Amino acid sequence: MEPDEPGTSAVATEIMPLAFAKGKEKYCELCQREAYLQCAKCQVTFYCNADHQQADWVGVHERICQMLVSIRTMKDIYDPAVRKRNQLRKTHLIKICKLVAQSKLSEGKHEEALPAAHCCLQTSIDLYGPNTIQLVPAYILLAEANMGLGNLAVVAELLSQAEWAVLKNPELGASIQQQLHRSLGHFHTSVGNLETALHHFSNDIYFACEEYGLDSSATTKGYFLIANVFNRQGKATIVHSLYSEVAERWHKHLNSLLETHQKHADSSVSFYEKAQRVEMEEMLRVMLEFEQKQSRRDAALIALIAYNLAMLWFINGDFHKTQDFGSTALQASLQIPKHKLTEPIQELLQQVESLQTEPQPGSD
Ligand SMILES: [Zn+2]
Ligand SMILES: [Zn+2]
Repeated sequence: MEPDEPGTSAVATEIMPLAFAKGKEKYCELCQREAYLQCAKCQVTFYCNADHQQADWVGVHERICQMLVSIRTMKDIYDPAVRKRNQLRKTHLIKICKLVAQSKLSEGKHEEALPAAHCCLQTSIDLYGPNTIQLVPAYILLAEANMGLGNLAVVAELLSQAEWAVLKNPELGASIQQQLHRSLGHFHTSVGNLETALHHFSNDIYFACEEYGLDSSATTKGYFLIANVFNRQGKATIVHSLYSEVAERWHKHLNSLLETHQKHADSSVSFYEKAQRVEMEEMLRVMLEFEQKQSRRDAALIALIAYNLAMLWFINGDFHKTQDFGSTALQASLQIPKHKLTEPIQELLQQVESLQTEPQPGSD
C-alpha cells in the first residue's frame, strides 16, 4: 500500500457554501477550529488554514483523500446494506491510518504522525462510539506522537483515557495491553519515574510473550527498553547483559531474514517490514554506541552487534554501510581467537565486494 511518488503539496479551494447544507459549520480536520478551506480533490475535508491542510496532506490525507469521498458522502443512511458497506470502509480507513502513523513514528517523524493518529481516533469514535475499547490503539498512537513532540501533559491525558478504557474491559487482548504498557513505560521514562517505567516495561514483556511468543521481535524490543531504563540508572552491568540477550535475538531474526532475502533477491519489502527495520537499526546503533563507550569493551558483543547492522544494511541494499559495519565487526571478532563470527562476517564482506565489482549493464 506504499505510494511510490508522494505529491509534495496539497490543493485547496475556498469552501463553496452553496455546495453544503445550510447552517452546517465546517471544522478543520486537524484542529477542529472553524474551516475556510476545503481539499480540492475530495471536497469533503476542511481546514482552518493552508498550513493545516499541508500538514494533513503530508501526514495522511494524500493516501486517504479518495477513500473519504465515499465515506463522507454516504447517501442512504437508512439502507442497512449501505451502512454495512460504509462501516467496512471505515474499518479499512482506520487500518490504513494506523499503519501510516506507526510507520511515521518508527521513523521518528512525530509531527507527521499526528494527522494519521488523529484521523484514526476520529474515525474510531465515529464507528464505535466514544469511551469504547476500540479507541485504545488510537489513543496510544496519538500519545506516542505527542511524546516525541514533548507534549507530556497531552500524553498523560491520552494515556489515562486509554487506561480507563482498559480497566473497564479487563478481558481485553494481550496485544493492546502490551502496547499500552509500552507507552506508559515511555511516558514514565520521559518524566523520570524510572521505577514506574520498569514496572510497565516488565508488563510489556509479559503481554508480548503471551501474545507473540518468547522469541518475537515485540518481546525483544521490551528487553531493549528495560535496558535503556537501567542505563539511565547507571546500572551498566545489567544493561550489558540485557543488550547481549537482545543482540542474540536480533541475530537469529536477521539470519532468517537474510536467508529469505538471498532466496528471493528481488522480493519487495512490505510497508510494515520496512518500518520494523528502521526500528531495529535504531536499536542496534544505540547498543553499539553503548558498548563502544565502555571502558572494558566486550569484543564479542561488538562483533555481534556490528555484524547484525551489516546484515541489516545488506538486506536493505546499502553496500557502503554493509562494508562499514562489516569491517567494524571483523576487527572486533579478530580480537578473539577462532571466533565463530569471523568466517560469516568475511563471507558477507566478500559477497558485497563481488556484487559491487559486477559490471553494470551498458558500461565498459
Ligand atoms: Zn486547523
Ligand atoms: Zn481530499
